[in-house]
Amino acid sequence: MDSRILKVELQSYGLRIPNTKDIRRGGAGPTGGIHLRILPDTEANIPVVGDFVSSSPYYLDQINGEYWIFKDDVALVQVELMGVAKFYNHKTSTGIPMQKIGLLHCPTTFATTLLQTCVFWEDDRRCKFCGIELTLKDRSTVGFKNAKNLVETILLAKELDGISNIVFTSGVAKDEEKALRKYAEICSEVKRATGLPIQLQIIPPEDLSWLGVLKDSGVDALGVHIETFDPEVFEKITPGKARIGFNKYIETWKEAVRVFGRWQVSTYILVGLGERLETVIEGAALCASIGVYPFVVPFRPIAGTPMENVKPPRPEVMEYVYTEVAKILSRYEGSAKSSKAGCVSCGECSALPDFEKAFTEGSNVKFRKFIKPINTG
Ligand code: SF4
Repeated sequence: MDSRILKVELQSYGLRIPNTKDIRRGGAGPTGGIHLRILPDTEANIPVVGDFVSSSPYYLDQINGEYWIFKDDVALVQVELMGVAKFYNHKTSTGIPMQKIGLLHCPTTFATTLLQTCVFWEDDRRCKFCGIELTLKDRSTVGFKNAKNLVETILLAKELDGISNIVFTSGVAKDEEKALRKYAEICSEVKRATGLPIQLQIIPPEDLSWLGVLKDSGVDALGVHIETFDPEVFEKITPGKARIGFNKYIETWKEAVRVFGRWQVSTYILVGLGERLETVIEGAALCASIGVYPFVVPFRPIAGTPMENVKPPRPEVMEYVYTEVAKILSRYEGSAKSSKAGCVSCGECSALPDFEKAFTEGSNVKFRKFIKPINTG
């Protein structure tokens, strides 16, 4: 099977593995997953926990000490697993285990949530899929990461694990100005000490002049994540973001592209929240026309959230979306490869970069024929 298609199937069905004891189950990013290199060259983060995974036809096993993915007792492809990051064995000078300061979401990207709380969790504005405060409750992280601890941890991750870029995300702060000032200070200190490219992920700031401040503080790429373009899903699943409104997101993206450059600004578009598929394609086209990278990602349920029992979208849905969005990106000469840092440059949680690659590699690449799916459930 083509490794691009296998990545799509694995992200929809999950992969059964012998032991899930040490798998992270809350927080931001690709929670409940493992990094795989599907040989020879496809990198992927694949869900391995959750009820839906137990009925996956795919499982991991070994042949002569090598890891292989099996389906129906047939060995499909050899894979490599990411080892435990070496910096996880160390503590900061203030005694905090560095694994609580940040994680490797893939071998090259250091990721952390600067502010591990979100004001939307205090009322009905919380995004229904979000697990940001769950890892705080189980004490596997700290509530706010300061510059000193971050610099120490990132320098060691660079030295021992060879990371090449950083992603900082955060919850929504009560006092936006104070939080943005703090993020700018942190990015400036981390950039000065490490020299690494940084992606910062924020909600649209009330005052857009903050975008220039962040750029001057060493931020190379910006994530402003709308999650969905379906108005009903926006209201129902991400009510806090819906109150910010589509227009504010679009205004922010336009200004951010002016400040950071084309394809250095991105937005997550989740597929599988119950949206109408045409809203995904139309939303991605709108983003691409502005120079914003539409990072299309299959929804992945997190235990302990209101959407824990919702399954990821079917693989044929994702294949359809990826094909259409990759076509749009090729028209605008947009590419994940252009992104300097963060989720888009890592690209493991989405197969969109793999579909883009297939388009740019030429005409001998065959796309599977499929019937247009009508919904994402
Ligand atoms: S804005 Fe939504 S996704 Fe982001 S931290 Fe808050 S609740 Fe979670």
